[in-house]
Amino acid sequence: MKKSIKDFDLNNKKVIIRCDFNVPIINEEISDDNRIIESLKTIKYAIDNNAKVILMSHLSKINSEEDKKNKSLGIVRDKLNNLLGKNILFSKDTRGAKLERIINNMKNKDVLLIENTRFEDYPENRESSNDEELSKYWASLGDIFINDAFGTLHRAHASNYGIGTYLPNGIGFLVEEELKKLSVLDNPDKPYVVILGGAKIKDKIKLIEKLIKKADKILIGGGMAYTFLKAQGYNIGNSICDDDSIAFSKKMIDKYSQKIVLPVDNKVTKKFEDTEENIIVNSDCIPDGYMGLDIGPKTIKIFENELKKAKTVFWNGTLGYSEFNNYSQGTKEILDYLSKLGIITILGGGDTVSASNKFGYKDKFTHESTGGGATLKLIAGEKMPSLEIIDELES
Ligand code: AMP
Repeated sequence: MKKSIKDFDLNNKKVIIRCDFNVPIINEEISDDNRIIESLKTIKYAIDNNAKVILMSHLSKINSEEDKKNKSLGIVRDKLNNLLGKNILFSKDTRGAKLERIINNMKNKDVLLIENTRFEDYPENRESSNDEELSKYWASLGDIFINDAFGTLHRAHASNYGIGTYLPNGIGFLVEEELKKLSVLDNPDKPYVVILGGAKIKDKIKLIEKLIKKADKILIGGGMAYTFLKAQGYNIGNSICDDDSIAFSKKMIDKYSQKIVLPVDNKVTKKFEDTEENIIVNSDCIPDGYMGLDIGPKTIKIFENELKKAKTVFWNGTLGYSEFNNYSQGTKEILDYLSKLGIITILGGGDTVSASNKFGYKDKFTHESTGGGATLKLIAGEKMPSLEIIDELES
């Protein structure tokens, strides 16, 4: 069992808590604050136990100075002010004398949020490459490291893996809860159905080989589906596709034809915008110049038919570009159908959970995980480096 925040005396200690505040921001507003809300338990515990609380998180990717302007954690600080009902200190610097001064002046129960850790990724890729000097520096700012960023456990970056290597460490309540809830998928009640959608094809597609060993069916939709449709020899127009994964997809379809279920129809459009100018076409009839942005009605029925037989469902990745109203129907209808089945249903992923919350299905499922890639990798049995370096509780 991993050490947790409860196993430390936090009184008067500088406690660095790695949170996952990588929240969706639309028109300068946080469109889904689920990850922030879920982090509060650990933060409040540290405050109540007289720690000096230092919060760190990444937000999106930083590849330019322009990104730095748009991806500041300042917006999260404002949210935390409201949620915790206290003034949260904020350091615009991710290192240096000003940051150190703020920390040296902190009193017990003060909370500091440090700017987006990925600001260290530009111009040099220090955070994401787990730069040793940066890891040691950040570790030098605290006495104890608590990792509560479930969504990044599968990565080895300076702010999670790096700091954790140099400080006494443990997990927070969010990570503890996620691991407990997701453990039902170790031995799922059968039939077990996995729904896989979304757009990060390269990141996820190889995991299918592991997931499929446990799953009875894998329903593939969203942006994920078109690489498979192309692998079957279909024209996919301008639909999102990872050409490097076509051979792999073909291998999967050939080997697991009884388990993999692909869309038979799609809502396609010429323009990537929220437009009603779209048509429904069968998967073997996507015209040139069109892109698939949602599954079609026949596919929805086929997916529902598979889900009806299931006892356990795990879902990662929306079934269409659900940020656009006109392409959210597949995701919405499957959410609705699942919410009424009363079976073990786990939603894994930022976007999947955001969509579920947006469409009114918050708390309607067994578990709504804060992690996307992390959840998927965990249940596929992949390595979770930032969890592995957390100390075990001595018995
Ligand atoms: P992921 O992080 O892999 O779960 O991807 C989530 C993203 O995939 C969301 O922004 C979805 O809107 C997007 N997505 C889902 N279906 C499609 C599609 N058919 N084409 C492009 N993007 C999609």
